[in-house]
Amino acid sequence: SDTSPGTDLAGLIAEVADYPTPGVRFRDITPLIAHPGGLAAAVEQMVAAGPRDVDIVVGLEARGFIFGPAIALALGAGFVPARKPDKLPRPVESVTYDLEYGSTTLAVHADAFGPSARVLIVDDVLATGGTAAAAAELVGRLGGQLVGITLLLELSELGGRERLTRLGFGPVTSVL
Ligand code: AMP
Repeated sequence: SDTSPGTDLAGLIAEVADYPTPGVRFRDITPLIAHPGGLAAAVEQMVAAGPRDVDIVVGLEARGFIFGPAIALALGAGFVPARKPDKLPRPVESVTYDLEYGSTTLAVHADAFGPSARVLIVDDVLATGGTAAAAAELVGRLGGQLVGITLLLELSELGGRERLTRLGFGPVTSVL
């Protein structure tokens, strides 16, 4: 397999028109993570782009569960899943936020980390920033200190970075 630093990460992401709804160009990372060199390079570059002094990586369901634990291992941090409703068995803190159509909820266990934990949020794609903003709000509610938001891919035309910055969340780092 190609594990060289020159691995073409962008070329390993499949673009799917009109999925899951008309007008959306879905970025499918499954070819990238199926490629041994692609997965290694993505994780390496996500680690290199973001903060190093991290206690907890919060990964966002579902594709943040792919990159988050690998990044946590590289940083010597723990991993906390931020989940969709009714998945976590113990008391949670949750935030409900708007999607293009309807709304959804993200939740973390209320005791997932203590006050003053240095927390890095990880997901695959930053689109409008609504999901990452909800996660950042949860980090604050638990008393954690947000040290960064790391994405593999940022769809800059959707303004997610500006939205997060306006809300005081960041720094935001993306590889692609
Ligand atoms: P948003 O809250 O708008 O920033 O959307 C981010 C979340 O939805 C992330 O968890 C992404 O995995 C997913 N997502 C949004 N748009 C896309 C897209 N075009 N391709 C792949 N995933 C997307």
